[in-house]
Amino acid sequence: TLFSDFPMREELIRAVTDLGFESPTPIQQKVIPTLLSQPSDIIGLAQTGTGKTAAFGLPLLHYIDTSVKDIQALVLSPTRELCMQIQNEFDKYGQHIDHFRSVAVYGGVPIGGQIREIKSKPQVIVATPGRLIDLLERKAISLENVRYVVLDEADEMLNMGFREDIDIILKTTPSREFTWLFSATMSNEVRGIAKRFMKEWKELSV
Ligand code: AMP
Repeated sequence: TLFSDFPMREELIRAVTDLGFESPTPIQQKVIPTLLSQPSDIIGLAQTGTGKTAAFGLPLLHYIDTSVKDIQALVLSPTRELCMQIQNEFDKYGQHIDHFRSVAVYGGVPIGGQIREIKSKPQVIVATPGRLIDLLERKAISLENVRYVVLDEADEMLNMGFREDIDIILKTTPSREFTWLFSATMSNEVRGIAKRFMKEWKELSV
């Protein structure tokens, strides 16, 4: 399989070509065609370094409507480093998509700059749960129109004690249509999140 075989917007094919990606990794081969043919809820079991960011990121950017100036997609991830990495990958994948913008928000830095960035109307937010709750409490962000939610490294977020924050955030996404959960392991707690917040899901693993 080649990236150009995927029924994906041409700007994304061009971006992965620019990046020198030759063929999709195993998790990408499972996740990308599944999400492109018929978006659904999925659980992807994959470790870091397997290319999972592109596995969810390319379909996510494929579905983003840049004519809508609202946050349409939210990615939750456990750490500041991971948020920055994911947002950095999205910048690369979205480089040919006019007016595409994503913003990362995470703790450990002043919130003011992030509030300003949110006002610049990104379509995608990549966040750590704690900082996102803080922004919600300050009414500095609205998740009203979020249709896609990705939980990245769900097992890690649960290990770090973010269960309640994740619950609150998912309950604050009234327009959520699809939830894509990624985890290295399938624990009872991970399954619990899926049961509470996801509809029928497909499990894809490598
Ligand atoms: P991840 O597992 O998402 O953290 O990705 C690990 C690294 O692999 C990142 O630097 C990606 O840019 C890179 N990568 C992802 N998919 C591919 C691919 N199909 N071919 C080559 N490199 C890739």
